[in-house]
Amino acid sequence: MRYTCRVRWRSSLVLACVCLATACGPRSVVLGFWIENVAYQSPRIGEPLTPVELATIDRVARAEIGRAFTDYDVTISDDRKARYKVAVLPRLRDERLVRKGTYAGESRAIAGFGGSGAVNFEYIANGAMVFAPASASRADVIDAIGRGVGRVAIHEFLHQLLPKSPIHDSKDPRSYEGSSPALLDGYFGDLRWGIAQPWLNEKLRRR
Ligand SMILES: [Zn+2]
Repeated sequence: MRYTCRVRWRSSLVLACVCLATACGPRSVVLGFWIENVAYQSPRIGEPLTPVELATIDRVARAEIGRAFTDYDVTISDDRKARYKVAVLPRLRDERLVRKGTYAGESRAIAGFGGSGAVNFEYIANGAMVFAPASASRADVIDAIGRGVGRVAIHEFLHQLLPKSPIHDSKDPRSYEGSSPALLDGYFGDLRWGIAQPWLNEKLRRR
């Protein structure tokens, strides 16, 4: 009997938390981001990526995410249990298609609860190889992979933070909401917030 009461109390506590999460105004959030065990090699850069270069990609991607959310009370961590999280995986494939498809990123989200997503490392690394100018050094291309990974992660975090908002309606190709993995600017240019900014202002507390 006592046990049942405890469970009920916990249930109502959970409900109370959900109400707080959905009804409150702008708030601070933690974004979990990490790169899984990935490997990559391409004729464009020669030797496989080294552990030091993978660490550089992680650092550049993390800085890119931090820059995008710099106006907001957002903490970028490697917490795999964060309410919002994106893992960089070796590759993503859609096995439902007859001719198997590949794509840059994905997310699952439930409004008020959080979400989880993934970035396709192979897809982004291939994009950096394709868009790299002939003059780009190996280090330049490594940095571009980091920016590309970070920008797709930003896009996936947007889906999780704003699960009901039509961020794909963006008409600005140089925005985080656009299709940055398919553009040179997604790797070598600058991106900015587009239509999602007013929605983020409602969702996230400003610093
Ligand atoms: Zn999207």
